[in-house]
Amino acid sequence: MGGKPKVSSKIIPLASPKGPEKLCELCQRVARLQCTECRATFYCDEEHQQADWVGIHRRICQLLVPIRTQTFLSLQRAGQIVTQQKKAELIEICRSVAQQKLSEGKHQEALPAAQFCLRCSIDVHGPNTVQLVPAYLLLAEANIGLGNVSRVAELLSQAEWSVLKSPDCGHAVHHRLHRSLGRLHMATGNLEQALLHFANDIYFASEAFGLDSTITCRGYFLMADAFAKQGKTPIVRSLYSEVTQIWHCHLTNLLENRIQNAQNPNVLLDSSYDNQSDKAQQVEVDDMLRTMLEFEQKDPRKDPAQVARVAHCLAMMWFLAGDSRKVNHLTTLGIKGWFDTVTQFPISSLCRLKIGLSLIGEVVKIRWELVAGDETVSTLLTSTLVSSLRTKLFGRRMFVSVGSNSSDVT
Ligand SMILES: [Zn+2]
Ligand SMILES: [Zn+2]
Repeated sequence: MGGKPKVSSKIIPLASPKGPEKLCELCQRVARLQCTECRATFYCDEEHQQADWVGIHRRICQLLVPIRTQTFLSLQRAGQIVTQQKKAELIEICRSVAQQKLSEGKHQEALPAAQFCLRCSIDVHGPNTVQLVPAYLLLAEANIGLGNVSRVAELLSQAEWSVLKSPDCGHAVHHRLHRSLGRLHMATGNLEQALLHFANDIYFASEAFGLDSTITCRGYFLMADAFAKQGKTPIVRSLYSEVTQIWHCHLTNLLENRIQNAQNPNVLLDSSYDNQSDKAQQVEVDDMLRTMLEFEQKDPRKDPAQVARVAHCLAMMWFLAGDSRKVNHLTTLGIKGWFDTVTQFPISSLCRLKIGLSLIGEVVKIRWELVAGDETVSTLLTSTLVSSLRTKLFGRRMFVSVGSNSSDVT
């Protein structure tokens, strides 16, 4: 798919002789151009055609032909059912495209997909229905990114109204609505209101996905941002440490699955990190982890253990995504962080040392598996490195087994 739309043509009156006046897909003003591919989509000018092409149209151009072209079949009952199904598919495509662009921070590009998603949802489900809420929220999120606060307020009040009218709508919908409302209040600087909505967001998300879910933990991260603006650093630190803990656990599980699958040739390799929406999620998570890393590094009372844990999360994420350059840089940072931790704490805090050293082991292991691709070599190198580190730090007093959690004083 190219970045440029097919050459637009002037609307030929004979090709669409009857029917209402053609309106621009993006701004609903009178159209003078027509997409030459589907011949069913119209624009006021080339700028709007280009924006729509990049935003969504190149993905759905051909899918629109059967929906927007009236044929004998499409007017019959069976044809109408098929059309409704096709519209439902279109809503799903637009939702995922808009979500992906939002995760990548491309708010302007997300607008056409989010707009189409809402229009198509109203078409299928009718106005003021709870099914419109996801589309309202997508459009609101794009507008938050663009700083159109009044438009966001308008969209969110429509979403709130739809939710109010459906008392049995699920926790997940409430969670998303409160998250968007929280972000709106962040944008207007009303931190108290933002915190209230984020607290509700976390409550509903934990009901829907669990307290330790990565979805819920995004709420902690957003809340920390509000506390940071209020200058409440200790709360920010504790929330960031919670977020890091959850992601560390999640990524460790993913990594273990990946390694297990790689060892068993009969199991297909986990391809969840290959598709587009996961690539978009990576950008979002990378951004979140880096914000926390920067916060900790700038803090005069910085906790090297937190630096190492966040760096380790980032390293695992990019390892899963197959980016060796980023992994190498981050493992170095992670190892340095843990080195600072173990030298900083007294020998008696065994627990801390144990976790620290086994994590160094993990980080080093990842690195060597990546570089050498040979497990025997990587295990050997890991144990050599850790044993030299051990001797350097503690003489011969500690025995640490890398890869397992056992540590004993000999
Ligand atoms: Zn227009
Ligand atoms: Zn088209």
